[in-house]
Formats: sequence, structure tokens, C-alpha cells
Amino acid sequence: MCKTHENETLSDDCIFCKIIKGDIPSDKVYEDRYCIAFRDINPQMPVHIVVTPKIHIESVLGFKEDQAEILGRLQLAIAEIARRLGLDGSGFRVVNNCGKDAKQSVPHIHYHILAGGEMGERIV
Ligand code: AMP
Repeated sequence: MCKTHENETLSDDCIFCKIIKGDIPSDKVYEDRYCIAFRDINPQMPVHIVVTPKIHIESVLGFKEDQAEILGRLQLAIAEIARRLGLDGSGFRVVNNCGKDAKQSVPHIHYHILAGGEMGERIV
């Protein structure tokens, strides 16, 4: 069993850790034992959701072998959120920005679910 939401796995100076702890508000659309999802404060599509694990890991590069379950749980959460928000018919895009060139701005791994309109054929 991998580690999930324990206080020592959260960072004091991370905005997403503060949202997970409930120290700052968010427009939450989903939560389970492993992850939380909320509406992006600066949406880039009509539907823009941030899905993030309840453990402070900077990026996909930071996952350990014994945390592999969290990666699967994030994918399951994305599918469940898509169903709940009615995106499963029309479709959606899932984006993860990792590091400097990708312009990752919050160093706590997260996936963007983008939907609610047609997107370009290119990813970037
Ligand atoms: P990234 O640039 O991939 O690291 O994405 C970080 C995302 O977090 C951006 O789209 C921000 O708009 C979003 N964001 C930052 N602070 C908050 C917040 N307090 N509530 C919701 N979304 C946030």
C-alpha cells in the first residue's frame, strides 16, 4: 500500500498542499483518498480542472516505485471526473507540464483536464 494523505507528505509552502489541507479555498469537483481536483483559477478552456495527488511530489520525475499506485489512481480519477462533468461524450485533453521548458508553474505534480470546446490538432 502506498502512502497517501499524511501531513508529513505535504509541504508548508506549496499552494496545492494548502488546498489539500483546506488552508486555502478551491472550487473542488472531486476528492478521494489519493487525489483532489478543483477548477483552475485561470481557466484556459470553458472547463479547466486541475487533478493532483494528496502527496507533495514535484513532478512525474519524483515518483518512487512504491508510489506507482498513485499514478494509476490519478488516471482513474481523471476518468471519473470526466464522467461526472459529462465530458466522456464530447472528449477532453489531459496535459501535464513538467519542468522549465513546459512552463510548469506549481511544483506539485498535477494534470490539467481541458474541455468544453474544440481544441487545435496540435498539442502545442
Ligand atoms: P502549471 O503551469 O502546469 O504548473 O499549472 C498550474 C495551474 O495551477 C495554473 O493553470 C494555475 O492557473 C493554477 N492555479 C494556481 N493557483 C491556483 C489556485 N489557488 N486555485 C486553482 N488553480 C490554481
